[in-house]
Amino acid sequence: MNLASRINSIKPSATLAITSKANALKAEGRDIIGFGAGEPDFDTPDHIKKAAIKAINDGFTKYTPVGGIEELKDAIIAKLKRDNNLTYKRSETVVSCGAKHTLYNLAQVLFQEGDEVIVPSPYWVSYTDIIILSGAKPVIVKTSVSAGFKMTPNQLENAITTRTKAVILNSPSNPTGATYTREELAALAEVIVRKGILVITDDVYEKIIYDGFPFSTIASVSEEVKGLAVVVNGVSKAYAMTGWRIGYAAGPEQIISAVAKLQSQNTSNPTSIAQKAAVEALNGPQDSVSDMAREFEKRRDIIVAALNAIPGVSCFKPQGAFYVFPDFSGVFGRSCKGKPISTSTDLATYLLDEANVAVVPGIEFGHDAFIRLSYASSMKLIQTGVERIREAVKNLS
Ligand SMILES: *Cc1c(COP(=O)(O)O)cnc(C)c1O
Repeated sequence: MNLASRINSIKPSATLAITSKANALKAEGRDIIGFGAGEPDFDTPDHIKKAAIKAINDGFTKYTPVGGIEELKDAIIAKLKRDNNLTYKRSETVVSCGAKHTLYNLAQVLFQEGDEVIVPSPYWVSYTDIIILSGAKPVIVKTSVSAGFKMTPNQLENAITTRTKAVILNSPSNPTGATYTREELAALAEVIVRKGILVITDDVYEKIIYDGFPFSTIASVSEEVKGLAVVVNGVSKAYAMTGWRIGYAAGPEQIISAVAKLQSQNTSNPTSIAQKAAVEALNGPQDSVSDMAREFEKRRDIIVAALNAIPGVSCFKPQGAFYVFPDFSGVFGRSCKGKPISTSTDLATYLLDEANVAVVPGIEFGHDAFIRLSYASSMKLIQTGVERIREAVKNLS
């Protein structure tokens, strides 16, 4: 059967694929340690679960307005004011079925054939495919570890052409954990405003940030850039609510109402009871958020130190999110049983087959010298897993 070329132009999410492969091997009885997961290993806080249970018991189980209930829009508006000093109206906010859905919908309403969208790399695996599905072309701006994995204003300016529609920023970043300072964002905003392109800022890791680093979103840098910015956020990462599927966007009304129109013809509203849970997440006590971040920070310190202690490996210290993106090119060229390891995919395959450790090859994020490890797992598993990697690297000849 001939499928539409649209679906043949993309690949399945690599991170989801690796997680499911690792789970399948575990189910077969293999002792796999998974570093693939893109979600917190904590449970959703109780007060949030209770809000959802109450919604069920109250019969809040019917269609809601397509773009989200007013109560949730108001909670989002209050959050954006409180945390980001941003002012939005209800008509400038829309709730979707997870931030990934928000990003997909934004791409569908903003981009088309002939457009270019700038994506700094290393990038989150889904950006490029979401852009391709819209018909537009992703334009990758490669950042380096020496620049802290951050795009400079010059790099951004050089990538802009007459076809450029938007740039996507993600800070703290998945996969590197790199986090832009307010000054760095202001310098990028100057280029964005001068060139008149849009900026989509994916702030889902806002709350998972370390060393007292103050989070800033580019939309808050000036009124001019706010007019060109769409803020994307959600409850998945901050509140350990990945399964609930609630994400949102705030931005110019014309864009936001187009997203709601699109949703009216595909998903309709996000799940009613999950919306009630998200209201509680945003309005309720925030202690669990900082508790999780502090725990992630401890794990980051352990995993970065352990990786850097492996000869041939060098690991950038993230300022946020829950991933490390170490450079393994120092071990490339060595081999196992005559099979050379020369790419991140070779390395990930070798680690899974010989060390029972699942990692994501860096090529999926645009950088083949690296692999991504999630440290959203227990300290014990992190330590044992990195020890296995260390042994496996030692066994290469
Ligand atoms: C996890 C993630 C998302 C999507 O989160 P949802 O669960 O869809 O809300 C978006 N962007 C990045 C960078 C992520 O890591």
